[in-house]
Amino acid sequence: MKNKLLVLSTLIISILLLTSCSNGNKEYAMGLPENIQDAVINEMIEKFGEEHKERIQTGVKQVAERWRSDDGTEEEFKNFCLENFYHKQDELDLVFDRFQTNLEALYGNLHRINRQFMWQLHVEAGPVLPIDYMFGAYNIYAHVSDDLYRSKIAFTALLNFPIYTLEEKTVKGDQWTRRQWAEARLADGFINRVPAEVSQQRSEIYTYADDYITHYNIYMHNLLNDDGDRLFPEDLRLISHWGLRDEIKAQYPNPDGIERQQMIYRVMQRIIAQEIPAVMVNKNEADWNPFSNEVWETGTQESLPAHPEPNTRYEHFWKTFEAEKLVDPYSPVNPTLIDRRFNTQREILEEDVEAMLIEILTAPVIQDIARLIENRLGRNLEPFDIWYDGFKARGQYPEEELDRIVRDRFPTVDAFEEELPQILRRLGFSRDRAEYLSARITVDPSRGAGHAWGARMRGDKAHLRTRVPEDGMDYKGFNIAMHELGHNVEQVFTLEGVDYYALNGVPNTAFTEAFAFVFQYRDLDVLGLTTDDPEADALRTLNDMWNTYEIAGVSLVDMRVWRWMYENPDAGPRRLRDAVQRIATEVWNEYYAPVFGIEDVSLLAIYSHMISLGMYIPDYTIGHVIAFQIEDYLQGRDLAMEMERMCIQGRLTPQLWMQKAVGSSISAQPMIEEAGRAVRKME
Ligand SMILES: [Zn+2]
Repeated sequence: MKNKLLVLSTLIISILLLTSCSNGNKEYAMGLPENIQDAVINEMIEKFGEEHKERIQTGVKQVAERWRSDDGTEEEFKNFCLENFYHKQDELDLVFDRFQTNLEALYGNLHRINRQFMWQLHVEAGPVLPIDYMFGAYNIYAHVSDDLYRSKIAFTALLNFPIYTLEEKTVKGDQWTRRQWAEARLADGFINRVPAEVSQQRSEIYTYADDYITHYNIYMHNLLNDDGDRLFPEDLRLISHWGLRDEIKAQYPNPDGIERQQMIYRVMQRIIAQEIPAVMVNKNEADWNPFSNEVWETGTQESLPAHPEPNTRYEHFWKTFEAEKLVDPYSPVNPTLIDRRFNTQREILEEDVEAMLIEILTAPVIQDIARLIENRLGRNLEPFDIWYDGFKARGQYPEEELDRIVRDRFPTVDAFEEELPQILRRLGFSRDRAEYLSARITVDPSRGAGHAWGARMRGDKAHLRTRVPEDGMDYKGFNIAMHELGHNVEQVFTLEGVDYYALNGVPNTAFTEAFAFVFQYRDLDVLGLTTDDPEADALRTLNDMWNTYEIAGVSLVDMRVWRWMYENPDAGPRRLRDAVQRIATEVWNEYYAPVFGIEDVSLLAIYSHMISLGMYIPDYTIGHVIAFQIEDYLQGRDLAMEMERMCIQGRLTPQLWMQKAVGSSISAQPMIEEAGRAVRKME
C-alpha cells in the first residue's frame, strides 16, 4: 500500500510538472513546406518517370508531413526520397516482404518480453514483490515508434505505400486485392508520429484518471435512509459505477429491493452533480443520508459538515481532453480524438455510428419492452430501470449442481488445458481443427477473473488465463473461461490463418467480444447439459435489446460531450461539469423520457468510462450489435467452419468484414426485428 501511495504521489508530481510545460513541444514541430515538396517531386518524376507521378506525390507528401528538423536538413530530405523510392515492382515486392517479416519479428518478440515482464502480476505464480511492479510498469513499446522514425524505416514505408482514408477504404476496399489491403494496413501503422514523451504524458494522465476511478468506492453500510435505517450489510463496498449498477440489478428479485435501488440512484445523482460529500468517497468514516445530503459521525447523531467532493471527477475528465490536445498536432490525418476514435480505431464513420444509435434509441419496440417490464415489475418505470435485469431464463440447474459438475471435470488448470480438444469438439470443431487450435493455446492460472492474450507472431501461443480455486474450477469460473476461449480461438485464426501479417487480427475489439460471447453462451452445451426453457431465446433477445438501448444513450452522451469540449477548448472542468449534466439530460429527455414518462434525468452521465477511457463507450453499443448479428447468422449454421471463414479475413474495415462475414453491413435491424418477435412471444 505504501509503495502504491509513493508511486501515486510521484505520478501526481510528474503530471503537474508535465502540465506546466505542456507547451514546450515546439522542438517536435513537424512538416516541410509545399515548395520544398514540389521541388523534390519534380526531381523524382524526372528520375523515375512520369508513370510514377501519383505514387511519388503521395509518398513525398506523407514523408514531408511527418519530417522534423532533427530528421535532417531539406537536402537530406530530398536525398532520402530519391534514394528510398522503389519504382520497380519486383523490388517493391521485396520491400513489402521485408516489412512483413521484420515487423512480425519486432512486435511478436516485444510481445513475448512484455508477457514475461507481466507474468508475476497476471499469473498465480508465487509472491508478488516490488520488483514485479517495476517490470510490470516497464513500457516495452514506449520508444518503438520513435525508433522506427529515427531509423527512417517508418519514412520508407510512408514513401512507398499510401495511407488511405476511411472513406477511400469504404468506397474502394471491396475491389482491392488482399495484397492491396495488406499494403494499406502497413501504411496505417505509421499514420501518427507521436513523440515518446508526448505519449508518455498522455498515458500518465489516463493512468491517473483510471486510478481515481479504481479507488472510487461507496461504503454502503454507512448510508442511512430518512428513518435513519441502514439498508445495506456491513462490509459491502461498491465501486462506482459498476458496483453500484450491479447492486441495482441484483435487487430486482428482492421484494423490498426498490428502496435500496432508489437509494443507490440518489448516490449516483450526487456523484454526477459533484454534491457527494468528500468524506463519503472511498471512506467509511461517516454516515450519510444521500436524500437529504446530511452527514454524521458514524453511529452518532453528531452532524458533520458535508463539504462536497471538489469537482475532482470533471477535473480528471478535462485532463483527458488536454492529454488528447497534446497528441492532436502529431496526428496530421486525424487531428482530434474524435477523428482518431472513429476513423482509425473503430473505422466506422461518426455519422454512421450516430445514425445507428438513434435507430436503436427510437425503435418502436422499446416502448413495447418498457410496458413488458412494467408488467413484470407491477409498477411504473423508474429511471434506474435502464438496468432492468429480469429477462432471465429459469435456471434448470441449480448453481451448486453446476459447480459440482465443473469441479469434477476440471479439478486443476492442467485438467482444463488437457480437455481443450474435447471442449472444441463439443462446439463443433473437427478433430483436426480442435487439435490445431489446442496446440496453439496454453492455459495459465490467473490472478484475476480471467483473460485471453493472443500472440503477435506465428509460432507463439495464445494464453488463456483462468482462475481455478484449490478445490477445483467452479461454474462462474468455467463460464468466464469459455468467454476467454472464444477470444483465444479468434486470436489463433486471425494470426495463423491470415495470409498477410499486416492483416492479422479483427477490425476492432467489438468483433473479438462477439466471438467470446458466442462461446460463453454455449457453456452448458459444452458440459453436455441442455436448457429447455421455451422462452429462453426470447428472454435473451429482450435482455440484449434493453441493454443496447441503455448503452446507446450513454454512447451518445459520450460523443456529444467530446464534441462540446473541442468546441469549447478553454472551458475548463467547472463548465464541463455543467455541460455533461446538460447533455445527459437532453439525451434523456429526447430518447428516454417518452418511454419512462419522467423528464430531466442526468443518470446517463454516471459511467466511469467517460472519465478515464476517452470516448470508448460507443464501442460497447457497436459490440452488442455486431455480436447479435454474428450470433443471428450462426443460427442453424456450422459454428466452427463459419468462425474460421470469418476470422481469416483479417483486419478489413468493420463494414466490409461484416458484409463478407454475414452478407450485410453492421446494422441494428436484426436485433430490433428479433426483439419485436420476442415481445409477441412473451405477450
Ligand atoms: Zn471479452
